[in-house]
Amino acid sequence: MIVVPEKDIAKLITPADCLTAVEGVFASMARRSAYNFPVIREAIGHADALYGFKSGFDRESLALGLKSGGFWPNNVEKGLTNHQSAIFLFDADTGQCRAIVGGNLLTALRTAAASAVSIKYLARQDAKVLGMIGAGHQSTFQLRAALAQRKFEKVIGWNVVPEMLSRLEEVAKEEDLPFEAVSLDRLGAEADVIISITSSFDPILKASQVRPGTHLACMGTDTKGKQEVEAELVANASVFTDEVAQAITIGESQHAIGKGLIAPEDIIELGTVINGAHPGRTSADQITLFDGTGVGLQDLAVASKTVDLAVSKGVAIEIDF
Ligand code: NAD
Repeated sequence: MIVVPEKDIAKLITPADCLTAVEGVFASMARRSAYNFPVIREAIGHADALYGFKSGFDRESLALGLKSGGFWPNNVEKGLTNHQSAIFLFDADTGQCRAIVGGNLLTALRTAAASAVSIKYLARQDAKVLGMIGAGHQSTFQLRAALAQRKFEKVIGWNVVPEMLSRLEEVAKEEDLPFEAVSLDRLGAEADVIISITSSFDPILKASQVRPGTHLACMGTDTKGKQEVEAELVANASVFTDEVAQAITIGESQHAIGKGLIAPEDIIELGTVINGAHPGRTSADQITLFDGTGVGLQDLAVASKTVDLAVSKGVAIEIDF
C-alpha cells in the first residue's frame, strides 16, 4: 500500500493537474460512468466536531474509495486546520486498500479546480475583472486557479471582515494584477466573473447587483441552510452544478428550489458541457452560475493523480498492509 503524507502533496500535484483530474471526473459523471455514494455527515457529540465520509467509483479511471474527515471548530487553538481529512483509495479489481493520501490540501485544490473548470467552460472569453466574495482559507486557492482561466486584468474583492482581503491582494500581486477592496454594489457592477467562498447562512449578493453576462461560481454553500446569493439570482441564471442531487439539497440551488423559483430539471451538470452534450453559455448577456457543492469523486480523482505522480517520481512510500 502507498502512503502520501499531507506534507508531500504540495511538491507532487499542481493546480493544473487538479483541473484536468476534476474536468475528467465531471465528464465521467455526466456519461454515468462515475457516481457518488450517499454522503454520511454526523455531529459526533465530541469536540463540537462534524465527521463523515464522501465516497464513489469511477468506472473509467477505476478510482474507488472515500474521503473521511470533517470539521473540528476548536482546532485553531491547537494550531491545526479546522477541516481535517484523509483519502483512502481501493483497488477496483481486488478490493485491497491501494493508498492513503492526505486530504487537507487536496480538498482546497479540488474545490478551486471545480470553480476553475466552470470558468473555463462558462465565463465569457473576454472576461477581464474577477470578483471575489470571501477571504478565508479556501479563497487564495480559488483565486489562483481562476486567474489561469482567462486574461484577467484586475481582481476586486469583498469580505465581511475587510482586513482579511489582504491575503487576496498578495495573490493578485504575485500575478502582477491590481487588487481593490470594493462594496458589493461595485463588485456586481464591475466583475465579469464572481467567485463566492464563504460560510454565510444568509444571502450576500443580490440579484439586482449582478449585471448580464456575469459568470458566478458559488462555492461556499455545501450544507443545508448555507446561502451566499439571493434565490432570485439563481432563478435569473442558467444554473450548472457538479451533481444535481447535492445542488438541490445542500447547494446554493436549495433556496431557489425551496421557493419554487426553479425545478431540479432546470439544473445542468457541468460534465455535459465538458462532454459537448450541452452548449453551456449561449449568449454574451446570459448569467451563468456554477453551484459547486463538492463531490467525493473530485477527491478520488485528485488523490489518484497524486499517487500516480508519487509513483512516477519514485517518491511513493510503500508499506506492507
Ligand atoms: P474559512 O473559515 O477560512 O473562511 C470563511 C469565510 O467566510 C471568510 O471569508 C469569512 O469572513 C466568511 N464568512 C463567515 N461568516 C460569514 C457570514 N455570516 N457572512 C459573510 N461571510 C462570512 O473557511 P474556508 O475554508 O475558506 O471555507 C469557506 C466555505 O467553503 C465554507 O463554508 C466551507 O464549508 C466551504 N467549502 C466548500 C467546498 C466545496 O466543495 N463546495 C469545499 C471546501 C470548503
